[in-house]
Amino acid sequence: MTVSGAAAKNTRDPGRTRRVVIVGGGTAGWMTASYLAAAFGKRVDVTVVESATVGTIGVGEATFSDIRHFFEFLRLEESEWMPACNATYKLAVRFENWREPGHHFYHPFEQMASVDGFPLSDWWLRYPTTSRFDKDCFVMASLCDAERSPRYLDGSLVDQGFVEQTHDETSARSTIAEYQGAQIPYAYHFEAHLLAKFLTGYSTERGVKHVVDNVVDVALDDQGFISHVRTAEHGEIAGDLFVDCTGFRALLLNKALGEPFVSYQDTLPNDSAVALQVPLDMDRKPLRPCTTATAQDAGWIWTIPLISRIGTGYVYASDYATPEEAERVLREFVGPEAADVPANHIRMRIGRSRRSWVKNCVAVGLSSGFVEPLESTGIFFIHHAIEQMVKYFPSGRGDDLLREQYNRSVTHVMDGVREFLCLHYRGAKRVDNQYWKDTKTRVIPDALAERIEIWQHKVPDSESIYPHYHGLPPYSYNCILLGTGGIDVRHSPAVELADERAALAEFERIRLKAEKLVQELPTQNQYFAAMRANA
Ligand code: FAD
Repeated sequence: MTVSGAAAKNTRDPGRTRRVVIVGGGTAGWMTASYLAAAFGKRVDVTVVESATVGTIGVGEATFSDIRHFFEFLRLEESEWMPACNATYKLAVRFENWREPGHHFYHPFEQMASVDGFPLSDWWLRYPTTSRFDKDCFVMASLCDAERSPRYLDGSLVDQGFVEQTHDETSARSTIAEYQGAQIPYAYHFEAHLLAKFLTGYSTERGVKHVVDNVVDVALDDQGFISHVRTAEHGEIAGDLFVDCTGFRALLLNKALGEPFVSYQDTLPNDSAVALQVPLDMDRKPLRPCTTATAQDAGWIWTIPLISRIGTGYVYASDYATPEEAERVLREFVGPEAADVPANHIRMRIGRSRRSWVKNCVAVGLSSGFVEPLESTGIFFIHHAIEQMVKYFPSGRGDDLLREQYNRSVTHVMDGVREFLCLHYRGAKRVDNQYWKDTKTRVIPDALAERIEIWQHKVPDSESIYPHYHGLPPYSYNCILLGTGGIDVRHSPAVELADERAALAEFERIRLKAEKLVQELPTQNQYFAAMRANA
């Protein structure tokens, strides 16, 4: 691909943004196209240029709970898209062996209650009812252990008293693209390429143009804005706004516009992955309603149960393991089912573009930034980016303040997730080899170091303690701190002076609720088997 400078004149009235050209047709490209189609209909002309020869990354199957707002925004029911994408439900991330071999805990999509002004984590540290913080404080942990679906067999969603956390549908549609940061009780696993295919149909039915071709040149005008991209077989495609969804290549933002990339590698050294798509007989294997992250000698392995197969992969640091070692470990972990499955080796670019929106080019997806998928935040970044893009959609070229605001928001979220991931490694109790020993001395962001010091005197509180809250709720920090077990945290001294009866009653309420739901709800296998039988 080449970049042509200053020669091309943009002859179109630059005063209005009406033509959007998206380069790249992976998850980022098609999520952006479908979202823009839902937001603006045919008032904005959208074209997706997708290469037939350059593949997509081929992973990215576990999501974060905000993803439900995306499908709501597209006005899609689960019954319309889930079967087409072999999707399952996800209630949590299950962490295995981060503390010690055989130990597991969950980070669920469920806010933690507060009692008399203290979060349950404070109460639990003072009055632990069992050794499982996650089960004592969240209903979801028990549902995950029992492999339950969040829906009854008649399709109704379990009433878990989470109504206040769910996104009000009307407001989701009227507050165009407002990121609420709300935790809602579940997310999804899906096959990424099937979702891209589904969204291709959704978008093209709503007027999005689809060009299958390679972009070979990006032309800049005399002000350094992109005037058009040139394709191998379809000539020039001009636009007012260009969305770079070309993955780690970042052909428009980093290559053509020269925007620098800010690496997070010093704090998050995992830079490689090897992935396998393992066939699954749904009748024989449990469909756990969670993504599992199992700690390994040089990173961790993800396990994502889908209707059709299991998606699995080893995320590792190339300073501590070779690709051959990583593949061997992954194959041993999966067992004989993986024997004939080809491995997909991936080199990951960890960090973010300094600015994701420069002139008339916005990078969305891997081109904008990426951190290892330990908390399934890749698709969350995409969703957040396109919500913000619509929110700050420019009227024309002069909207510098809107661009700045957008960049501030994206930076804030990505840097925040980096910090949260760093906590997983610093917090992990295991120190059984050099990789895990180094996680205790490696540099971490200053803000995290400060917080860890505070948490050693009192665990994270409710939202208000976080003036620099980055999109992850404080209860998430509690889950990781108390689950990984390597940092010695304490409850507030004040809970010693408070009356504990209401807190103990809340633990009992959670226990009874979990017990009842485990009895009533079907397993995920039973739920999806019934859905298939009724289809
Ligand atoms: P890609 O999928 O790489 O797509 C790039 C597109 O650009 C392709 O369509 C390609 O054809 C096109 N293209 C490239 N060059 C040209 C050209 N010259 N002309 C035209 N088109 C071009 N996220 C999660 O949320 N959950 C997860 O569990 C998760 N797991 C992950 C595991 C790993 C190992 C990695 C690396 C990522 C993971 N992610 C995850 C992130 C997720 O995969 C990505 O965020 C998501 O797939 C978006 O990718 P993309 O569309 O930006 O890029």
